[in-house]
Amino acid sequence: MPDLLTRGQANELLDDAQRRLDLHTQLITGTCAACGHFDCIERELAMREFVEIQLGRLPRRAPGASQPHLCDRGGWSAWLIPVTRPN
Ligand SMILES: [Zn+2]
Repeated sequence: MPDLLTRGQANELLDDAQRRLDLHTQLITGTCAACGHFDCIERELAMREFVEIQLGRLPRRAPGASQPHLCDRGGWSAWLIPVTRPN
């Protein structure tokens, strides 16, 4: 990445980083939707670009992109299961 970017170049780089984030979305299972790794380097590099290119833009996340149905255990209260135990 060059040291000095025009606003247009910075926006193009962030658009590309956003496309990579959309592709390498972290699923609710913790794995990457594209490569299947828990620690996806592509997602990490794309996130780093948003930090390094200080244009005031934040990464966007599409509702449902993490595919929460993968963890559907039969109801809205399924997330309580790990913290509630019978006495
Ligand atoms: Zn990935």
